[in-house]
Amino acid sequence: MTSTHETDVVIIGAGPVGLFGVFECGMLRMKCHVVDTLEAHGGQCAALYPDKPIYDIPGFPRIDAGDLVNNLVRQAAPFAPVYHLGRTVAGLTPHGDQGFSVLLSDGKSIVCRAVIIAAGGGKLVPNRPPIPGIEAYEGQGVLYRVANLEALRGKRVVIAGGGDSAVDWANGLVGVAQHIMVVHRRPKFRAAPAAVEAMMRSVGEGLVELVTPFQLAALDGSNGKVETVTVADESGQTRELQADILLALFGIASHLGPIADWGLRLHHQQIDVTPHTCETSIPGVYAVGDIAGYKGKLKLILTGFAEAASAAHAIFSRVHPDEVLHMEHSTTVGIPVS
Ligand SMILES: Cc1cc2nc3c(=O)[nH]c(=O)nc-3n(C[C@H](O)[C@H](O)[C@H](O)COP(=O)(O)OP(=O)(O)OC[C@H]3O[C@@H](n4cnc5c(N)ncnc54)[C@H](O)[C@@H]3O)c2cc1C
Repeated sequence: MTSTHETDVVIIGAGPVGLFGVFECGMLRMKCHVVDTLEAHGGQCAALYPDKPIYDIPGFPRIDAGDLVNNLVRQAAPFAPVYHLGRTVAGLTPHGDQGFSVLLSDGKSIVCRAVIIAAGGGKLVPNRPPIPGIEAYEGQGVLYRVANLEALRGKRVVIAGGGDSAVDWANGLVGVAQHIMVVHRRPKFRAAPAAVEAMMRSVGEGLVELVTPFQLAALDGSNGKVETVTVADESGQTRELQADILLALFGIASHLGPIADWGLRLHHQQIDVTPHTCETSIPGVYAVGDIAGYKGKLKLILTGFAEAASAAHAIFSRVHPDEVLHMEHSTTVGIPVS
């Protein structure tokens, strides 16, 4: 059965920037519904690196990505956002004079005055290594991200990949996993030099084993549990690694998905916006965070936070057409008592 909700602003994406958009809209008395394909809040922070510390959030010398997401959800809560998690925004059509109807993958729709697209790089999908039958192990013996560090405690972990994530997790699992093996097809790693140095120190101390130049070839195990990871070098010579977990970190592909078909002006997978309002080529539709593009754009969380504030202020007159917006500080107006 279909049903229609009504709100002031629909935010597409419950990543850090979409969540802060709820707060900024709320401060200007605009109600939000937030839609995300993922089942949880937090976008990349929650899906890709929840236990990693972030060092460039103003006011937080260091904060784990998962904690940042929890704080953002708490900060948005007084404004009672309605979340539609596990739903993709499939369509966007004009509604009435100046509004929109946003169609969700479950067939429901939300009518609103303005839309904020905070969709990051789009729907996040991990790149799967080409191992026959790997699907049978996914979620148990094969992981594409570390959602719960404690689940790896005492385990024999094979990390596959040569980029930042692989090296960071090789470092991050020292003292947690029982044995860490890093499989990469080249002896050199494409990661931050300091992280590679830290990993090489662990290799020297016998805490991490490098398995290079090898590539994943096969998996063995039963009932979703991995027992052996077979790797092969260019000449076809193989090695069998006894392991409990294969952590395959070959990057995440993101797809703009339906957003690409809405007639928005796009450039290199980003939506062109007017920087001071974040309005797109469709009046009433705004884009913020990683998905918003303009000259000199920095894809950082702090940039997205400022964009969310700009978009909310630009939207105000659509939702409250008879009011003049006076810029006020949060210290002056406070927030609703929840
Ligand atoms: C390993 C790693 C480390 C990083 N470290 C830092 C750092 O130290 N500092 C920093 O500032 N940044 C860092 N970043 C970048 C930072 O995570 C991103 O800039 C930030 O997540 C962007 O936030 P966002 O809300 O714009 O998008 P995202 O976090 O990508 O969230 C977008 C959400 O939109 C959803 N979505 C997309 N399309 C649809 C649709 N059609 N319908 C419904 N939902 C949809 C997605 O599922 C996703 O949850 C890091 C990134 C990575 C991968």
